[in-house]
Amino acid sequence: MKKEDRAKQLSGIIARFIAFSAKHLPDDVVSRLEQLCAEEDSPMSKTIYDAMFTDLDMACSLSRPCCQDTGILQFFARAGTEFPFIGELEGCIRSAAVTATNDAPLRPNAVEFFDERNSGDNTGTRIPWLDWEIVPGGSDLYLYLYMAGGGCSLPGFARTFMPLEGYEGAMKAVFDQIASYGVNACPPLLVGIGLGGSVDTAAKLSKKALLRFIGTRNSSAKGAQLEKQLESAFDSIGLGPGGFSGKRSVMAVHIEQAARHTATIAVGLSTGCWAHRRSLIRINKNLDWELVSHKGGKL
Ligand code: SF4
Repeated sequence: MKKEDRAKQLSGIIARFIAFSAKHLPDDVVSRLEQLCAEEDSPMSKTIYDAMFTDLDMACSLSRPCCQDTGILQFFARAGTEFPFIGELEGCIRSAAVTATNDAPLRPNAVEFFDERNSGDNTGTRIPWLDWEIVPGGSDLYLYLYMAGGGCSLPGFARTFMPLEGYEGAMKAVFDQIASYGVNACPPLLVGIGLGGSVDTAAKLSKKALLRFIGTRNSSAKGAQLEKQLESAFDSIGLGPGGFSGKRSVMAVHIEQAARHTATIAVGLSTGCWAHRRSLIRINKNLDWELVSHKGGKL
């Protein structure tokens, strides 16, 4: 088969991957929602969780997105240098977005700055967003998709602190943000925190923190400890499912970090909502694929 035809095949896989991701939450998110539901005892909390699970069942049976806001499509690629479609991937993702918008269907959400025009097909300048990581020697592509809705991770936050303000100042800012607008992202939340030396690094890492599977912990023991402490702190706000109050506010807190400059502590925040549409597919050089985030999922 010609390379051009194989690129079309790759685009078709990604289009189905996008449509599937809009309708099915990943395994780790579903099992955390079930766990949190079991821990709540108020009738209101139970009712809200029941509504979420009914929504997910209907999205599956009717083959419709589980939330009307199918977001801005953000892709994070980790590709081996031997993966044969590195040069074609961006074009494949773009055409896949157009196909999935029609087939899934997805709500068109991409609006061009200055023209203030919605493209109608979820493509636009630098959208779908594509972030690259190249792995020397490998031939597989690990492709994350995150559907970033207008109420969840898109209204993020980043700021650089002076060292005297310390970790305390940075975490207080995160806490204040969640307490003020966290409820805009339908809880329970997945809180992504990035730490680094500049706002751009911290903001990007906060989004990458949302890609990590729930149940995993920060690579540093102290970072893992801080994740647990923040989970308890956020739970004490008592947001509960849908923001209607309850014992638990968050599905998890994830922190990712980069070494910082001696003179700065930067923090970034991205909040994921209960409908956390983050999917991961592994595609090999023969275009065989496996849905890593949805075991046994069929496209
Ligand atoms: S916060 Fe999430 S569940 Fe709520 S409307 Fe936005 S995308 Fe949908």
